[in-house]
Amino acid sequence: MPATHETRMLIIGSGPAGLTAAIYAARAGMQPIVVQGMQPGGQLTITTDVENYPGFRDVIQGPWLMEEMQAQAEHVGTRMIWDQIVDVDLSQRPFRAVGDGGDTYVADTLVIATGAQAKWLGVPGEVELGGKGVSACATCDGFFYRGKKVVVIGGGNTAVEEALYLTNHSEDVTLIHRRDSLRAEKILQDRLHANPRISVIWNKRVDRFVGGEGAAGLVGVDLIDTVTGEASHIATDGAFVAIGHKPSTELFVGKLAMDSEGYLLVEAGTPKTAIPGVFAAGDVADKIYRQAVTAAGLGCMAALDAERFLAHEAFASASAA
Ligand code: NDP
Repeated sequence: MPATHETRMLIIGSGPAGLTAAIYAARAGMQPIVVQGMQPGGQLTITTDVENYPGFRDVIQGPWLMEEMQAQAEHVGTRMIWDQIVDVDLSQRPFRAVGDGGDTYVADTLVIATGAQAKWLGVPGEVELGGKGVSACATCDGFFYRGKKVVVIGGGNTAVEEALYLTNHSEDVTLIHRRDSLRAEKILQDRLHANPRISVIWNKRVDRFVGGEGAAGLVGVDLIDTVTGEASHIATDGAFVAIGHKPSTELFVGKLAMDSEGYLLVEAGTPKTAIPGVFAAGDVADKIYRQAVTAAGLGCMAALDAERFLAHEAFASASAA
């Protein structure tokens, strides 16, 4: 039988942004509820080694980090609910959300931390070699290719930034793009072309990621020329797919302002959306930084702002009485 859950703060999403918001809100006595969504723990649960989350001298595992964050959130009083929100009503307060199984969530404030997903090419070998040479995050995995040969696929800002970043680790970086011009900003293009460690292959699309014998990871990428149709192969140790991200914002279409790519719009430097009491934190509203630590920081900001919002409201109604 469907239940109704009331809370001072509903958090949708259980990645670093959502769980950090929960930790702060719980410690402020807001008894938050986190609705975990389809991928509890978020994108970090599909990565392996994490070396850039502060506080850990040794390499840690992404899934482990998220388990710890969840345990910490629960320890301080967060209620985790395994559900998927399928509808929200932000037209009046308290806000209402409806879960997949029919449960209703009634909340004084809402933190949207639904994250984003890297787009993948959908070609053979991509899933099988994921984490074994094929990655969608150079900042996360680039370090493991120190002194090795890597390729980056894509022609936008992300691809160019990833290629430039990878030159910190590799002297042999190849950008593979399906057209003969990049859509990245000119300043990034200039940096790319000026970097002697980077070469560009134009007009090629990836046909297949090729693994080595047995348990060996990626050894190369089969390519097709998008103009002539000619097939070719490039040997590589690592391939970074950088063809964009898709924020998980379908629920909020027509309800909250978004940019042309679907990222939620917030007041600059804050997680505040245009609706008072509704906050957006993490990759769902950040297409620039997209790091676990920045998402966690934004989650913290959302919880602090929500707490202040409720305190201000309580003060205003007490003064009016
Ligand atoms: P973009 O959508 O800008 O670029 C995606 C790139 O991937 C394009 O070059 C596109 O090719 C290529 N691509 C898409 N699908 C395929 C496919 N199936 N096969 C091969 N190539 C494909 O995504 P980004 O992630 O680069 O950027 C997203 C947004 O974030 C942009 O607004 C960007 O400006 C912003 N951003 C800003 C940064 C900054 O300011 N520092 C850093 C990173 C991102 P084609 O060009 O042919 O369409």
